[in-house]
Amino acid sequence: MLDNDSKKIFGWSGPAAGAAIFRIIKNIGPISRTDIVKKTGLSKSTVSVHTKKLLEMGLIKESKSKNKSVGSVGRNRKLLKFAKNNGYIIAIDLGATSLNVGLCNLDAEIIDLKGKSVLVNSGPKKIMVEIDNFIEELIVNNNVSRNKIFGIGMGVPGPVEFSKGLPVSPPIMPGWHHVPLKEILQDKYNCPSFIDNDVNVMAVGEKHAGVAQNFSNFIFIKIGTGIGAGIICEDKLYRGSKGCAGDIGHISINGEEELCPCGNRGCLEIVAAGPAIAKKAKEAAKKRESDFLLSVLNKKGDITAKDVGEAIKKNDSSAIEIVKNSGQKIGQVTSRLVNFYNPSLIIIGGGVANIGNYLISAIKEEVFRHSTSLAVQDLEIELSKKNEEVGIIGAAAMAVNEIYSHDNVTEMVYLDSN
Ligand SMILES: [Zn+2]
Repeated sequence: MLDNDSKKIFGWSGPAAGAAIFRIIKNIGPISRTDIVKKTGLSKSTVSVHTKKLLEMGLIKESKSKNKSVGSVGRNRKLLKFAKNNGYIIAIDLGATSLNVGLCNLDAEIIDLKGKSVLVNSGPKKIMVEIDNFIEELIVNNNVSRNKIFGIGMGVPGPVEFSKGLPVSPPIMPGWHHVPLKEILQDKYNCPSFIDNDVNVMAVGEKHAGVAQNFSNFIFIKIGTGIGAGIICEDKLYRGSKGCAGDIGHISINGEEELCPCGNRGCLEIVAAGPAIAKKAKEAAKKRESDFLLSVLNKKGDITAKDVGEAIKKNDSSAIEIVKNSGQKIGQVTSRLVNFYNPSLIIIGGGVANIGNYLISAIKEEVFRHSTSLAVQDLEIELSKKNEEVGIIGAAAMAVNEIYSHDNVTEMVYLDSN
């Protein structure tokens, strides 16, 4: 499908036309030169000149059509596609309690992946060493030549000033405020680097290779230690004026008084995210409302949201109530988003999303009850299907989107022609 930038190709000339042709090949290839002419309205000779240039630059490659039954006209019809294996992207997905680093090709497909449990609050010095170790392992194990690493993408669990690649007062990342991650990675690996909030990165991953591939306007909601949303508007990530759009975890819920670390009371995150689910489960266990939860508490001395998921599998009524209650609160906020933004898809992801169908059912019920009828007419609400790896795919896709942005490719074509 053509995205909005590609639709603007008509009337472009020079390097910009080359960049627009590249975009079409990258987004909808394999495609023949004839079909590019048809789609763009550009002349045959313009398409021919630019595809030749893009081939020489190694941005695209040629393959023979598999369709052999076209007859003499179509015989040996050559198709053009993105040269996705001409380089590598390093993707870093840093969570509150986990670190994953992936080696990806230029289409954000994972080639190799390393991961371990870490605590992001142990500070940047320690974590950056872990990241370097993983990157070195990936480079060595996969025989990657360093000049073939075209870029690095990284998601972190806190607010980020995207243009500078700086975390800004991230509440769960003490010590990371204004650490110049973009500069550190660029200097060390000699390639462009891009840092963003983890939820934004996941939304990009869903658009690139997840359930949202055919959706232009959608919201990705991550439910984990916190709650946040990534907003895709007209095929592009919407970051807002300071980069913190989608911070829905701090929208307050009527009637809730609990104090949130942000200073407000009754924030969605503090009453409905993973820690809130765990806390309520502990209370239920102590009140002996659930034998299963009590036995977990006695055995481990603590209960996590994951344990509540296990309790649900055993049909534990307390656990089901707790999760339904969280789903209702998340649904209340989501219904406001639906009325305000009119997305065609809501994706639910993050660690707590796997807790069971009660969560998403409750969210759906609230959204359909409280949103306007036109807003929900074609609305789909789905669980992420690539929940475990969408942070890596998204980090790589974010880097690829930036490296091959229309302006950058226009410049590449211009520089190569002069
Ligand atoms: Zn708050």
